[in-house]
Amino acid sequence: MAPPPRRGGVADAALPRRARAARAGGGATVTRPPPRRAAALARIAAALARIESGEYGWCARCGEPIAPGRLAPDPALPTCVACAGQAGGG
Ligand SMILES: [Zn+2]
Repeated sequence: MAPPPRRGGVADAALPRRARAARAGGGATVTRPPPRRAAALARIAAALARIESGEYGWCARCGEPIAPGRLAPDPALPTCVACAGQAGGG
C-alpha cells in the first residue's frame, strides 16, 4: 500500500464579511432648496459679499462692530445685537 501523497497545508483564510446595511439612497434629485434654506443661503451670500467688500463683522444697520460672540453661532448675521433687538422680527 502506497502512502498518500503529502500536500502542503493550504490555509483557507475565510475573510469575515462585514455586511453593513448600507442604505442606498434612491433618487437624489437636485431641486430648488426650500424657502427656509434659500433664505439662509441668501444671508450667507450677503455675508460673503460683505467679506469681499471688507464690511464683514460690521453692522449693516448702524456700522458698529458686531460682537464675535454673536457671529459665532450665526456668522451670517448682518446686524449687531442692538440693531437686531430694534428691528422688529429681523
Ligand atoms: Zn447695529
